[in-house]
Amino acid sequence: MFYRDTWLEVDLDAYAYNIRYLLKHTQKQMIAVVKANGYGMTALVAAKEAMAAGASMVAVANFDEALDLRNRGFCDDILVLGVTRPDSVLAAKKNNIILTMPSLTWAKSVAQSGISGLRLHLKIETGMNRLGLESPKEAQAALVVLKDQSVEGIFTHYSSSDDANNDYNDLQYNRFVKVLKSLDHPFQWIHCSNSDAALHYKEEHTNAFRPGCALLGVPAAPSELKLVYGFYTKINHLKQLEAGQAISYGREYTTQAKEWIATVPVGYADGLRRANSGYEVYISGQRYPFVGRICMDQAMIRLDSFLPLGTTVELFGPHIPIQEMAERLKTIPLDIYTSISDRVTRVYRKHGEVDQIINPRFDFPI
Ligand SMILES: *Cc1c(COP(=O)(O)O)cnc(C)c1O
Repeated sequence: MFYRDTWLEVDLDAYAYNIRYLLKHTQKQMIAVVKANGYGMTALVAAKEAMAAGASMVAVANFDEALDLRNRGFCDDILVLGVTRPDSVLAAKKNNIILTMPSLTWAKSVAQSGISGLRLHLKIETGMNRLGLESPKEAQAALVVLKDQSVEGIFTHYSSSDDANNDYNDLQYNRFVKVLKSLDHPFQWIHCSNSDAALHYKEEHTNAFRPGCALLGVPAAPSELKLVYGFYTKINHLKQLEAGQAISYGREYTTQAKEWIATVPVGYADGLRRANSGYEVYISGQRYPFVGRICMDQAMIRLDSFLPLGTTVELFGPHIPIQEMAERLKTIPLDIYTSISDRVTRVYRKHGEVDQIINPRFDFPI
């Protein structure tokens, strides 16, 4: 049970379906990306469920996220995609965490630390201009410098894979293959594609891929993948107001007639952006607008008529598509998903039933 009626519902069957769909579609090994607390799902659940559905390892953005997963008992392989400070490599080795090798400078400082047997994937810069070795020559030099480490993988990252017909993807992939072919090294993991590329781009020389958003059913283009998240709250206060009554901070909305105004216990500190003021939610078969400013912890909705306290309100989900909310906020679904805060209870559903409930702020059983 949980005590505040605001929750993120996570459909674990849809998550597993998306993973199986992607594995079948690509015929490659999956490195499931569970960074940013599993894109809001909570990292441990995202990682465990991904492995159970057929992923080969998981990836996170930074070393702290990897340690967090380890400390929560996750035993499978974890790849850190971002830069880890060279002074953290001993901790990486101790915890059996695979690091990204972002530059020749990084390789040299790691070699100087005297460590050996560190598990690494080489990152190749091909056009994103974020991280990576810049040329075949640099990659060759890095392999020499890293001769005492265990270099298991090589990868790059596309900057524009959400645009299905673009030459830039070809350019990046071709640069990557050129580096790959210049290296005489038995890489176990060769991977370029994120979600959108995995769905739309064919690669001959890779054997793995790194999807994140597609696991949640929100790639850039419409697809056969299923949405995993629904964000809900419940009416916990209701009143009928006369015309001319001002609602919320700054009195931006005033009732036009006799109106039913409901209050819900969700606000911008939960990840319901302030910019949603004026837009609609879904309640019992119909849409109703937020009125007045969305507060930090609460918001008001104008109803057409009386509804009982405890009536469920969908903020996004099956009836308010996340893509619609993202468009109105001039952003992408992942920006909204990853800002659902740790104050929001996560309710996991499996086979149509509640499987598990996590309140990320409670480290005691509820
Ligand atoms: C975030 C990230 C991914 C996953 O991207 P999606 O678009 O969510 O599939 C893959 N690789 C790297 C390097 C990333 O940073």
